[in-house]
Amino acid sequence: MSENLYSLQEITQALKNREFTVHYQPQYDALTNELKSAEALARWQLSDGRIVMPGSFIPVLESSSEILELDWYILNEVCRFLSAQEEKNICRVPIAVNFSRLHFRDADFVGKLIKTVDSYGVPRRFIEVEITESALSENGAEITSQVKDIRAAGFSVAIDDFGSGLSSLSFVKDMDIDVLKIDKSLLSRNCEDEKERIVLESIFMFAHRLKLKTIAEGVETREQLGFLRTCDCKLIQGFLFSKPLPEDIFLTLCAGGSTAEESEDILTVQAPSAATQLLLDAIFMRYPLVIFSNLTRNSFYMMAYENFTARTCPSTGVFDELIVHGTSTMHPEDRDAFSRTFDRQNLLKAHENGEKWVSLVTRQIGNDGVYRRVETTDYFVKNPSADDVLVISLCHNLE
Ligand code: C2E
Ligand code: MG
Ligand code: MG
Repeated sequence: MSENLYSLQEITQALKNREFTVHYQPQYDALTNELKSAEALARWQLSDGRIVMPGSFIPVLESSSEILELDWYILNEVCRFLSAQEEKNICRVPIAVNFSRLHFRDADFVGKLIKTVDSYGVPRRFIEVEITESALSENGAEITSQVKDIRAAGFSVAIDDFGSGLSSLSFVKDMDIDVLKIDKSLLSRNCEDEKERIVLESIFMFAHRLKLKTIAEGVETREQLGFLRTCDCKLIQGFLFSKPLPEDIFLTLCAGGSTAEESEDILTVQAPSAATQLLLDAIFMRYPLVIFSNLTRNSFYMMAYENFTARTCPSTGVFDELIVHGTSTMHPEDRDAFSRTFDRQNLLKAHENGEKWVSLVTRQIGNDGVYRRVETTDYFVKNPSADDVLVISLCHNLE
């Protein structure tokens, strides 16, 4: 990218003359290659036909508040595009718009966003607000509270360039966001460096645990794509699939309900972590609560699909305490049977006697105050590396 900077005056004049256009870079599903969304990127169209890239005007605009004007201009263009697509009955995808950190100094940013998008009649879910990672370390607290309002209004929020700077993971943890965009600087051409792979795998793991959608930016090679699939990265944005496209070409792409290339059989490109996730999803469909316990060491680890009972349970801790906790949301008449059946010593005896599992139905109170019958089955399992007696408990509602 040429970093040949223009003067602020030249750029603001061009903005007034409406010389800026939007290019749309498609974002594709990493496994199916389907077009899912796109990012709007500003381009300055000179009268001689040349196109000036953001590197030559964004830094200049960011040094003054004129960047705000550009961002609102781009948002208006995107909304106009989305609303025209609706009129032409062309399938639309959500569009991500970049917003400079300077917007977050304005207490009415969210109000302006709502007003602009609503004035075009565009559903808010079609707009994603991209905030660059570097903004977080500067004014993370203000951004965190505004992000809440942006999402409450129905927009989605992405952290852009994640991993490019010094931002702390705690910002991401504390901030209610939808999407993490992994910066291209973390990806080498072929992703063969062991340390690089470990860092990326950890970031994707962290994002999944926080239930964030992930987008890898700047994907240029098949090797990168292959590796990103093993990390269960959700969306791909990069030259491998498509460069940013002028509006008319992007429109044709949307009209075609496009995939980047021949879609692949998901099973042949299935990442190990994705396969594990599929298996878990299947288990959770029947058993919303799965608990692993070590009876010998009196410990447990719990995986709950959603709030299984009225009160949230700890996810790890002391097994004996878990059994006491378990009775607290239970019908009083069922408590004795539950405590007896799942008493650790009794379970150990059952295991010694060669039982394969122990099962009991109890009534559990839900958030709505209604009791539902829940079946808990403890399966004894063997860990090859230790003599400890382990159980896996699967719990499900009978009605
Ligand atoms: P960004 O938001 O991280 O956008 C992604 C950049 O990566 C784009 O550069 C895109 O063209 C480039 N890119 C995408 N795929 C690849 C790839 O496979 N390889 C390589 N090497 N690059 C790829 P672009 O369009 O030059 O934009 C640069 C930056 O300028 C953007 O980075 C964003 O921070 C900023 N920007 C662009 N438009 C706007 C805007 O409307 N408002 C604001 N505030 N910033 C904008
Ligand atoms: Mg961006
Ligand atoms: Mg980026």
